[in-house]
Amino acid sequence: MAVPQGKIVVITGPSGVGKGTVVQRILTDVPNVVKSVSLTTREKRVGEVEGVDYFFVDKAKFEDLVKQNTVLEWAEFAGACYGTPKKWVDEQLKAGLDVILEIEVQGAMQIKKCCPTALLIFLSPPSFEELESRLRGRATETPEKIALRLAKASQELTQKHEFHYEVVNDNLEDAVAKLISIVKHERSRMIDSNKLDSHSLG
Ligand code: 5GP
Repeated sequence: MAVPQGKIVVITGPSGVGKGTVVQRILTDVPNVVKSVSLTTREKRVGEVEGVDYFFVDKAKFEDLVKQNTVLEWAEFAGACYGTPKKWVDEQLKAGLDVILEIEVQGAMQIKKCCPTALLIFLSPPSFEELESRLRGRATETPEKIALRLAKASQELTQKHEFHYEVVNDNLEDAVAKLISIVKHERSRMIDSNKLDSHSLG
């Protein structure tokens, strides 16, 4: 019997909302879920590891990969380019794994168009003030870059209605529990519809 295809799970939300933390928890707590490692042209932060956090490439290489159609979606964000490697994602889906894309809104909208079965989740901050204080507290960016990210955040928040689910990251444990139940629920829905399909095929 063929392995049922996995599902793309897009987790979007403004920079600083805590996407990385909740995604790590989903990966630990839900079997058969993997996370795509993106390409980026931004500078590596202290502690980031090549091939784990990102594949760090220069602009020329990034543009080349986009031209060769090896990138599933890509976007410019706060002065750098980010993109999802297509082949790896495709292989995981074919192996029956769900693939999390932890990406920003423009990329999520490209996925909505090209992969209509993708599950789209928007992670929101409890308030804009809280987001600002989380971003400043993280201290990974210069004040100019933080300002850029906050401007992006207010734009991104206006697009949350484009997503299937909104989860507010107020209390981490509550947000993780909600996300896990959404991912599991969508998976069982998919398995049920596969069963229905195979019955109808006789
Ligand atoms: P950061 O520089 O903080 O790691 O990421 C900046 C933003 O880019 C975040 O919102 C992050 O989720 C998003 N991002 C990371 N990888 C990708 C990607 O492959 N595609 C898109 N569209 N956004 C990404």
